[in-house]
Amino acid sequence: MGSRADLHTHSTFSDGVLTPTELIELAYRGGVHTMALTDHDTTGGLPEAFAAAARYPDFTLIPGIEMSTDVPGNEVHILGHFIDWRDETFEQKLVGLRKSRLGRARKMVERMAELGKPVTWERVQSFAGEGAVGRPHIARALVEAGHVGTVNEAFELYLSRNGPAYVERDRLTPTEVVEILTSVNGLPTLAHPRELGDLEELLTRLKAGGLVGMEVYYQDYPPDEVERLRVLAEKFGLIPLGGSDYHGMGGPQQREPGDIPLPDEPVARLLSLARVRGVLERA
Ligand code: AMP
Ligand code: FE
Ligand code: FE
Ligand code: ZN
Repeated sequence: MGSRADLHTHSTFSDGVLTPTELIELAYRGGVHTMALTDHDTTGGLPEAFAAAARYPDFTLIPGIEMSTDVPGNEVHILGHFIDWRDETFEQKLVGLRKSRLGRARKMVERMAELGKPVTWERVQSFAGEGAVGRPHIARALVEAGHVGTVNEAFELYLSRNGPAYVERDRLTPTEVVEILTSVNGLPTLAHPRELGDLEELLTRLKAGGLVGMEVYYQDYPPDEVERLRVLAEKFGLIPLGGSDYHGMGGPQQREPGDIPLPDEPVARLLSLARVRGVLERA
């Protein structure tokens, strides 16, 4: 347990295993006082999260989201903090993205059957519940059916971008997502950038579009990687932020909420930018 803040977490409203209430209780017990709920393509968990957060006067919940985007050969995830999650146009866009997640998950389930490792759509749906369906739900159905031992193995063998069951879905470009998030007064942050390789060209473009932060303190990133990314963030005038990306699914990369070396200072910078932009009261 390291940090008093965690700016990247998932609940049952997307591919996390804890409800927003359980997640906030776990985070608070672990010493986290500022937390963003950043479910994939949905803000559906925020009403429950705000209700749970209200029980702790010294706890700040940041309304957030994580959106997936595509660049050739890679996937770029962008977090939006302090989004105006009640905006109707924004919600309509998210509805479209969640629909595309459904169609794509069904196709991936068909692929698994063709590969001789069938899972039923009902099981995938029951892991997803009412939440935005994603590959981790298929992975859990594959574990349950005994086709793989772990969720990580399901990704390694079948579901990763180069895996035999992978299916593309409708995605926006990183620039479009930064634009959408900015249009609802969100503060966009590039998520888990390590896997993206050479970042400078992407950062130049996104910074021009309004990117505010970059994740630097993330999950199991080692200290030398954190330092490299921190220097890069500062070079581009981005706030070096971070989070556990807690899903509660286990695996060697999992960190508990707050179990990342995110210092107070960049979090304070994010909060003061939110104050300047007049969006802090949403927290
Ligand atoms: P999707 O949103 O359906 O494209 O699925 C992406 C999600 O799958 C990510 O947000 C992670 O939660 C999870 N994920 C991606 N790669 C892996 C992996 N290698 N092992 C476990 N979970 C993964
Ligand atoms: Fe996820
Ligand atoms: Fe992500
Ligand atoms: Zn995430």
